[in-house]
Amino acid sequence: METLNNDFVHSIPERIFPGILYISMERSVAIHLCACGCGNEVVTPLSPADWQLKYDGAVISLIPSIGNWNFPCQSHYWITNNKIKWAASWNKNQIEDSRDFHYNRRKMLEPENKDAPKVQDESLIIVKKKRWAFWGILRFFKL
Ligand SMILES: [Zn+2]
Repeated sequence: METLNNDFVHSIPERIFPGILYISMERSVAIHLCACGCGNEVVTPLSPADWQLKYDGAVISLIPSIGNWNFPCQSHYWITNNKIKWAASWNKNQIEDSRDFHYNRRKMLEPENKDAPKVQDESLIIVKKKRWAFWGILRFFKL
C-alpha cells in the first residue's frame, strides 16, 4: 500500500478499512490501519504535543512520522501528501529518546500540571520513562 485516501468523519467508524486515513476533527484524532498491512489500528491524536495535520484541500500529511513500536511489525513511516514514505526502523534507544521528547513536550504544553518536569532536569526525565511506557500503551490501544 503506497497511498492513503483521506476520509473526514464525525466519529471513528466501527469498521476501519485499509488504505483510508479517517480524520475526526471533532475528536481531534486520525486513525488508519498500519501501512505494512498487519491490520493493527494506528490511532494518532491531533494536538500540539502529538501529531499535526496538514491539509491543503486535497491531500493531507501527518507530522511527525508514525512509529508503530508497540506492534510486532515495528513499522515506521511518514504520511506525506497521502503517500506512505517508509522510514528507517529505530533501535530501542532511539525509540526511548523519541518517547522522552514527546513526553516532555506534552508536559510543557500542559502548564496547569504542577508535576511537569523541567527539561533541564535529567533525573526527572529518567523517572518519567517508565510512566511513558504505560502511557504509550494507553495511547495506542485506547481511543
Ligand atoms: Zn504493521
